[in-house]
Amino acid sequence: MTFSHYDLHTHTTASDGVLSPAALFASALEHGIEILAVTDHDTIDGYSQLLSLQQSGEISDQIKLISGAELTCVLERQVLHIVALNIQMDNPGLIEHLSMLAALRLDRAERIAAKLVKKKLPNILSLVHEKAAGAQIGRPHFAKVLCDLKLVSSEAEAFKKYLGAGKVANVAVQWPTLEQVLEVIKQSGGVSVLAHPTKYKLTMSKLRRIIAEFKLLGGDAIEISYPGVNVQQQNILKFEIDKHQLSVSAGSDFHTPENKWTTLGRYPKVADDLPHVLTKCLADQVTLKRI
Ligand code: AMP
Ligand code: MN
Ligand code: MN
Ligand code: MN
Repeated sequence: MTFSHYDLHTHTTASDGVLSPAALFASALEHGIEILAVTDHDTIDGYSQLLSLQQSGEISDQIKLISGAELTCVLERQVLHIVALNIQMDNPGLIEHLSMLAALRLDRAERIAAKLVKKKLPNILSLVHEKAAGAQIGRPHFAKVLCDLKLVSSEAEAFKKYLGAGKVANVAVQWPTLEQVLEVIKQSGGVSVLAHPTKYKLTMSKLRRIIAEFKLLGGDAIEISYPGVNVQQQNILKFEIDKHQLSVSAGSDFHTPENKWTTLGRYPKVADDLPHVLTKCLADQVTLKRI
């Protein structure tokens, strides 16, 4: 099935994106997007703000909004990102889960700042809070402050030198398990998507085991189209999708207009013959416009 132009993986200033939800929406309109999921890291605030604006008529209803969040979790010490779509925002289990994640992120931010101080860098915690401005706080906020202070020349360098896995300001976090996250998504009426499967730097055999476990625990779909995925990787993912009877999803993982390698709504074309997560999301919607 072919859907209208959509993007099911995007970020705003509610987490580590640079556009406000309203600015993201305006850009989505310019890019001709008709179905948009805002999937900020560990928060639904981006979607929630847009929904209010749409309900009050301040933004157009030309774009169908889908609720979303990209939830951080672990499976056997591997950090995974699960895009939750079509979740009910008022679900108590979801609300509790998101506040737990906020607390984990605040605690992590303090520990990252302390590690940087140990490396003779200034204490940047308050600047990081200012940068995040109430957003779900993440390592990119640290990277941005380190850049602002000219302590690194780019965000990529901040990750390479300080914030990345195994680097000096890397701290362990007890993220919720994949099982817990899939349960929260299910309880809140949503569908779960394993985000950017080839971005975890796993061997293909390990990735296959993770996909099998994802299915076993009730996972619904796998992102198959996103910036950077190649045809060979997509073919492997398609094989797994077919084997486990999963659906497909696609999105740009948009964070900033400054990235030249990705744009809102841009990702490799998704084949029409695959079961699509949007079918589940829009099951109760009016007839879809086809292209
Ligand atoms: P967090 O969820 O706080 O651990 O931060 C993860 C986010 O950092 C990802 O979603 C990316 O947006 C960003 N990120 C991860 N690795 C890098 C990198 N090497 N350079 C720049 N940004 C990165
Ligand atoms: Mn991010
Ligand atoms: Mn991610
Ligand atoms: Mn993302």
